[in-house]
Amino acid sequence: MSELSNFKNTQEIIKKHNFSIQKKYGQNFLIDEHVLNKIIAAAELSKDDYVIEIGPGIGTMTERMAPECRHVTAIEIDKELIPILSETLSGFDNVDIINEDVLKVDLNKLIAERNDNKPVKVVANLPYYITTPIIMSLLENKIPIDTITVMVQKEVADRMMVGPGTKDYGALSLAVQYYAKPYIVANVPMNCFIPRPNVASAVIRLTCHKEPPVTVKDEKLMFNLIRASFNQRRKTLINGISNFSGLSYTKEQVAMALNSIGLSENIRGEALDLEKFAKLSDALLET
Ligand code: SAM
Repeated sequence: MSELSNFKNTQEIIKKHNFSIQKKYGQNFLIDEHVLNKIIAAAELSKDDYVIEIGPGIGTMTERMAPECRHVTAIEIDKELIPILSETLSGFDNVDIINEDVLKVDLNKLIAERNDNKPVKVVANLPYYITTPIIMSLLENKIPIDTITVMVQKEVADRMMVGPGTKDYGALSLAVQYYAKPYIVANVPMNCFIPRPNVASAVIRLTCHKEPPVTVKDEKLMFNLIRASFNQRRKTLINGISNFSGLSYTKEQVAMALNSIGLSENIRGEALDLEKFAKLSDALLET
């Protein structure tokens, strides 16, 4: 059983170290054993697994994962938490802490050096102010990852799951679904954390694809098209793409590409699924 995942023990550790919670780092510590159990179960850890934890806080999830896997590397930005982690995790010889901004850590290099380039599992209660950049960087940098099991804002979890025709559908939905299969494990109310966040949360597991579900000749072009379409959501695709600074296609070229794959010239990006974006991207290469 976890020692830290309740209000009393978390408060005690914080007081003992005279730690002041940093809002700017998105610090909302988990104090619910039941939710913690759900995250750990969803991560399906085995003794072979190398786990990367982003933002261990005071070590609540780390101390639960360490006995269940081969190694945990926990990356924590706040240097004031390092002495606390040294204390709470002192009983484990398979945990190391990197005091750094996760977005500045070369995870490809770390995994090559420490896990022979074999896929790792990422488990975290993510800081909400940078959830999307963290997830996008894990996916886009082609880091060898089996699964990403993370607590995020409920609204962000919903955005990862949805398809065309819903208001939450966007660049994040398409990127996540290109690289992984999302599954919402649990919804988590605000009172499971201290301090309480002002939004509801959810645990989501992304199982990374071995091969993407669609084939596309130029991945970078496809993601630029996706960005262009959702940058100006209310505009037609033709206007969105021809106005986008990162692309140099004319309205005529976009119209031609749309025609060649049987789509209307008035269509908006929000109506296209991943397969259609891939087709459009390949068609534009031919114009
Ligand atoms: N895992 C702990 C828990 O569940 O109680 C803490 C979760 S708290 C929501 C997010 C954690 O991420 C904090 O410890 C925060 O300091 C850390 N953090 C914030 N930004 C970070 C970044 N860019 N890189 C690494 N850690 C970060």
